[in-house]
Amino acid sequence: MKILKTNIELAEWLSEIREKGVSVGFIPTMGALHQGHVDLVNKSTEENDYTIVSIFVNPKQFNNKQDFEKYPVNIGTDIDVLEKALCDAVFVPDYNEVYPEKSKFVKLELGILNKVFEGPGRPGHFEGVIQVVYRFFNLIQPTVAYFGLKDFQQCMVIKMLKNEYFPKIKLQFCPTTRNKIGLAMSSRNARLSTAGEQNASRIYQVLNVVKSLHQHIEPTDALNYGKILLKNAQIEVEYFSLANADTLAPVNAWQKTNKNVLLIAAYIEGVRLIDNIVF
Ligand code: AMP
Repeated sequence: MKILKTNIELAEWLSEIREKGVSVGFIPTMGALHQGHVDLVNKSTEENDYTIVSIFVNPKQFNNKQDFEKYPVNIGTDIDVLEKALCDAVFVPDYNEVYPEKSKFVKLELGILNKVFEGPGRPGHFEGVIQVVYRFFNLIQPTVAYFGLKDFQQCMVIKMLKNEYFPKIKLQFCPTTRNKIGLAMSSRNARLSTAGEQNASRIYQVLNVVKSLHQHIEPTDALNYGKILLKNAQIEVEYFSLANADTLAPVNAWQKTNKNVLLIAAYIEGVRLIDNIVF
């Protein structure tokens, strides 16, 4: 596997492989790789001639300085994981490669996406995601880019970015990978104690309970019941809501013709976790 640290090294590798007219799958990550990331890599290697992963902990997408400082970094292990997954190249740029002095601020009108759930919950987060993904898409010009549906709202933001600036790049949104007890894999899970991790698995259980009440009782009652279960489990909820899965507009009634999505952000042992379920 090629380890590329600079934009020049990246450009050279890309021009070598493009001479053969190949398809390139790209997975942007912040490292501390787990099975969720590996599943995206596997999907890309199945579907493309070459797969490249970026590892860059993007300071611009952290609204909370402590969260950024505590973000787990383990490049050595990540490289082993990617080698085992038969990834072809990893791009590990430093800050100045990603954001050279005169790099422009990319504007994208997010509308409702910045006003609900992760928008107000993490001010500036999506603007930061847009800057980094715009930069990587420009540098790499992948055939297909892979993202996880665990970050449901992020997928919608990326779709807007693609529609506005990168019509040729295909997007693949992939299902959430969970551990044996149902907890959505996340680099942040490493900060949970064993008991905390066990407790965090209740998030997915509650999502399923509320989903099972779909059409039987009013959504507000179902959500309130879910919130009681979470409170009893000492899980502190930031938001737990029902929305239209195509627009993310919050809804007060189960969608019969459209898809529903239940979205949650919650804290366990001071760690902010998100999850969702679409039905
Ligand atoms: P991150 O390193 O957290 O920025 O994530 C990089 C990519 O991996 C994003 O597209 C995430 O949505 C995706 N991802 C993270 N966790 C999971 C998971 N448990 N299942 C599937 N995709 C994931």
